[in-house]
Amino acid sequence: MDLSKLDKILKDEKKYRAQQVKRAVFKNLIKDWSEATSLAVILREKLTQECPLEIDARVFISKDGQAIKALIKLKDGLAIESVLMRYKEGRNAICASTQVGCPLGCVFCATGKMGFKRNLDAGEIVEQILFFARYLKERGETIKNVVLMGMGEPFLNYDNVLLATRIINDKDGLNLGIRHISISTAGLTEGIRKLAEENLAVNLAISFHAPDDELRARLMPIGKQYPIEKILSAVDEYIEKTGRKVMFEYVLIKGVNDSDADAKKLAKLMKKKLYMVNLIAYNSTNDFSQSSPERTARFKEILENEGVSVTERHSFGTDIFAACGQLAVSGVVKL
Ligand code: SAH
Ligand code: SF4
Repeated sequence: MDLSKLDKILKDEKKYRAQQVKRAVFKNLIKDWSEATSLAVILREKLTQECPLEIDARVFISKDGQAIKALIKLKDGLAIESVLMRYKEGRNAICASTQVGCPLGCVFCATGKMGFKRNLDAGEIVEQILFFARYLKERGETIKNVVLMGMGEPFLNYDNVLLATRIINDKDGLNLGIRHISISTAGLTEGIRKLAEENLAVNLAISFHAPDDELRARLMPIGKQYPIEKILSAVDEYIEKTGRKVMFEYVLIKGVNDSDADAKKLAKLMKKKLYMVNLIAYNSTNDFSQSSPERTARFKEILENEGVSVTERHSFGTDIFAACGQLAVSGVVKL
């Protein structure tokens, strides 16, 4: 699929034509321009040449059927991974990537380990959502949430991420409510501040993962550039401007960031009205492992006793390496 020339082609067409094209792609979820019978044959042919709709993907399904991973091949042969998480009652969520790899190198993250190849364009971000929208349509279901928490750091690809978010939200696009879209960042304060100015009620999540700068910088090297104090002051400005809650993700890694003392230190930082902590079960890699259920419960209890609002996220899809932090494609793949 390649939508990069779509806007240019539609510029020469009447406005209602452009709308027809968008509807065909995003609402009717056509896979081939021949299905867009309301368009003139000549336009269809041009679109077939310049904007192919076929998505080149390989699909992996977890044993419990709850996670479906798509390995999507891009136009230059590189590949990215995206995941459909099928919660109960049709609450389908897509975890989409924003970059091929990630340059930030967090030590616990498989994407960080694979290094960085390039940014995705907005069409490539949207393509991942479209792929699963088509997949679900065949099963009579729809997408309920999109989280930009796959491969890559969204705020290092700010403009494309914002454009993709607007297309996903657009009523002539995928028409998903803005409050059903989330962006997760490793804490890049310029991005947080810029987002605050967008007048867009998208959900913001911060990958926090440590209660002090020393440990955080060990786990997330980018922490050296963005100390906790600076991140929290950008978040406070964001909350002041938008009135939105902000989620702090904290992945619990055994013996690394999960002690009682860590919980107490974290509680001190998180005791603010619109802050929410989301404790994430770590998906084990060679170097680190998951905290025990007892440790996790104790950690949560300490935060709750201090009055912090806490939720817990379980992982699924680990058997097909589809869970958070497990997305990593090595180099060029030939499918
Ligand atoms: N780069 C952005 C968004 C993608 S990472 C960010 O870091 O926020 C999505 C989330 O998965 C982040 O919170 C990340 O810290 C977390 N993560 C990374 N590796 C993980 C692992 N092995 N197990 C669980 N979560 C992980
Ligand atoms: Fe990049 Fe996020 Fe992984 Fe860190 S956790 S390496 S920022 S994808």
